[in-house]
Amino acid sequence: MDPSYESSDTLRNKCAACYRQFNKKEHLVEHMRISYHSVHEPMCGVCRKHCRSFESLREHLIGPLPKAECERIFKERGCDICLTILGSRSALRAHRDSCLSRPNNNGLLYRMANLGIQDDLRIDNSRGRIVSLACKMVGGGSDGSLDLCARVCLIDEHERILFHSYIKPNLPVTSYRYETTGIRPEYLRDAMPLRNVSRKIQEFLCNGEPIWQIRSKGGRSRILVGHGLDHDLKCLEMEYPAIKIRDTAKYPPLMKTSKLSNSLKYLTKAYLGYDIQTGVQDPYEDCVATMKLYKRMKSQFHKKENYPLSSDPQNKNNFATWRQNELERMSPEQLLDFSRSDYYCWCLDSQDI
Ligand SMILES: [Zn+2]
Ligand SMILES: [Zn+2]
Ligand SMILES: [Zn+2]
Ligand SMILES: [Zn+2]
Repeated sequence: MDPSYESSDTLRNKCAACYRQFNKKEHLVEHMRISYHSVHEPMCGVCRKHCRSFESLREHLIGPLPKAECERIFKERGCDICLTILGSRSALRAHRDSCLSRPNNNGLLYRMANLGIQDDLRIDNSRGRIVSLACKMVGGGSDGSLDLCARVCLIDEHERILFHSYIKPNLPVTSYRYETTGIRPEYLRDAMPLRNVSRKIQEFLCNGEPIWQIRSKGGRSRILVGHGLDHDLKCLEMEYPAIKIRDTAKYPPLMKTSKLSNSLKYLTKAYLGYDIQTGVQDPYEDCVATMKLYKRMKSQFHKKENYPLSSDPQNKNNFATWRQNELERMSPEQLLDFSRSDYYCWCLDSQDI
């Protein structure tokens, strides 16, 4: 094939976001319909390519098969934690220092004192609109594989402990999983029963708002941050509306693939730069890591749109109202311009709170 023909033809059919090329314009249009590219996708600071997740951006920058030019510049002045490209080597040095998170030592103090109890959780507006929650499970059932919540922690945005307690499970514990939980039978014997704990936490989260009235915007209820919250809430026998949940295991930019989550241990190492869950695990440590990840995602600077989600009624017809031949006449940039995200980007939280 004549190479000049190929480049001029496919250039017109190159996706303005992910740079995939298509033989026919109609295929590009079809690709745009199903890709939900948007200004909220992680983006390469060199070539501006959009990636579905930070993992694919990482691959694009540092391999195994990186794009050569992007790799070269990234090695020179790219931050290996947040994956942004800085203006110079010295700017990188200053940036990286502030980008690198450190674990909060309060958790260690609690662990050393083996207190672990702060259970006066009350509805109180002064205690933050965003909280993160983590649990540690012991084992139930004949083989000890059933997860029973035995310890829970709740912190505010400033990593201050709001609630930290052992829990007495409803079912007999058959494995304390001591190596990782550090939990002994006597810690649970007189602990608060599961039902009381979940009621306290739910009341705190709803903050005086009836649970069926909770909307995505406004209201008094709190935003709940965590990792794998479906499982935590199930073990706590508690419900909370999805619109108020920010889960680092389910957030597309932080996932390994569209279906596979990264572990919190991995995310903390890769995107915050420190180790967690190395020996006996304290839920406080997980709370801090998820809160830091949440705040990092929330503080991303993205272009502001009036209707940022493809599910916003105003966007329902972005592709549908145009005739196919009109869409095929548009440039790839025009197509990208009205494409919207299919997930709620956490940067939007910083716009309405
Ligand atoms: Zn694309
Ligand atoms: Zn965003
Ligand atoms: Zn690039
Ligand atoms: Zn950085």
